[in-house]
Amino acid sequence: MDLNTLTANELIKKLDKKEITSRDILTSLEKRIKEVDSKVKAYVRVNDSNLLNSELITHNSELSLKGIPVSIKDNICTREYNTECCSKILEGFKPPYDATVIQKLKEAGAIILAAKTNMDEFAFGSSTENSCYGPTHNPWDLDTVTGGSSGGSAAAVASDEAIMALGSDTGGSIRQPASFCGVVGLKPTYGRVSRYGLIAFASSLDQIGPITKDVRDSAILMNVISGYDAYDSTSINIDVPDYTKSLESDIKGIRIAFPNEYFIEGLDKEVKAIVQEAINKLKSLGANYKSVSLPHTQYAIPVYYIVATAEASSNLARFDGVQYGFRAGGAKANLIDMYKKTRGEGFGQEAKRRIILGTFVLSHGYYDAYYLRALKVRTLIKQDFDKVFAELDCIVTPTSPTAAFKIGEKIKDPLKMYLSDIYTISANLAGIPAISIPCGFTKKGLPVGLQILAKPFNEEMLFKVAYAYEQNTPWHKMKPKIAV
Ligand code: GLN
Repeated sequence: MDLNTLTANELIKKLDKKEITSRDILTSLEKRIKEVDSKVKAYVRVNDSNLLNSELITHNSELSLKGIPVSIKDNICTREYNTECCSKILEGFKPPYDATVIQKLKEAGAIILAAKTNMDEFAFGSSTENSCYGPTHNPWDLDTVTGGSSGGSAAAVASDEAIMALGSDTGGSIRQPASFCGVVGLKPTYGRVSRYGLIAFASSLDQIGPITKDVRDSAILMNVISGYDAYDSTSINIDVPDYTKSLESDIKGIRIAFPNEYFIEGLDKEVKAIVQEAINKLKSLGANYKSVSLPHTQYAIPVYYIVATAEASSNLARFDGVQYGFRAGGAKANLIDMYKKTRGEGFGQEAKRRIILGTFVLSHGYYDAYYLRALKVRTLIKQDFDKVFAELDCIVTPTSPTAAFKIGEKIKDPLKMYLSDIYTISANLAGIPAISIPCGFTKKGLPVGLQILAKPFNEEMLFKVAYAYEQNTPWHKMKPKIAV
């Protein structure tokens, strides 16, 4: 059996029995990456790295991720490896420190894989087509997108080029690619996982989270990366439970809900039927079902694209050719000219679009009309969820209104692209946790994801429901066939 096809929890057992070493796992990953990554393109700068030299740690059997390689999105700082957000403007940037999640992974005995995963530039996108390296290809159909922005991490896990991976989610960037690639992706509660060392997109929305082959691995990875961090002022000091304890298959009496407002026009018929089937499955496992209302859902996309771009425009101001990465040549002897040339050449189109939009909504005269109003509606969106969770345990929805679309299909129409975030962004605006798990396939063989949302710091509920569903369905075991 090829070790790269296994989950971390399966590999840990083999490591414990001394049947294999972590070097064996790395070797099988390296072989797989060589076989298929020229087609999938899940990793960037893979040629510069010797994967077998990925920092090996002594494997203390007490450590929970001893000897397990973890693949890291290109916006999470790793001291040993460049971190460039798949943007020309960060070309050559090697951070002087590790993100807190990387530190925690190392302390747990994990191996940080020497190649980083592809992403939309600065995590701006829903398809991983906005990377300066070009798109990642969906392992289920190489002509379709992986979703984004953590498309590289999701595709690496789906194609068995990774055992488990980290992504970041500002408006769906873990869940939507997980859904498109048929893997498990979790966005934790805002404040659950430290953002220290995550290159900021929109600081009030960003969270790092796991992308894995099954729900157990997601819980294992969450056990390692969660918790208070004094380096992140928005990190919250609440005990981290052992998430693997919530993996029970009994969900009798759990109260689940579907929001009426989520039956939107753009919801694909096949996706709707598959998700309906998944809800029926949960009901047959004993869950009580109700439909509910989240009345401010229609404002989620405009609110998100005001708040997120406003924060992004300010976060990206630091990339000016002075401190990090790329500096344009040929500027006149004048600082402003150097800034302009560097930012003009260093940022891609979508990054520029967002900087312009964000600067506009924050500018004098428009701040009240757009940004301030968006913040108020954001509170209303959060209150919609509070009301539902006062009575019910979780909300179930499709993760995305469609399965993966063709590469090139939406890239010229940013508004169409933004609409694919309709089901995921509300969780970020409200700060609540949400998971996407595989729940079936379209007739064309593309995966569909079921999203489960719960109240803040109730990741345990997500794990419980997701695990029960997974134990009673075959989807997570399916593997894409990539011709080698
Ligand atoms: N697709 C959304 C966007 O383009 C979300 C991206 C993300 O979560 N990083 O902003």
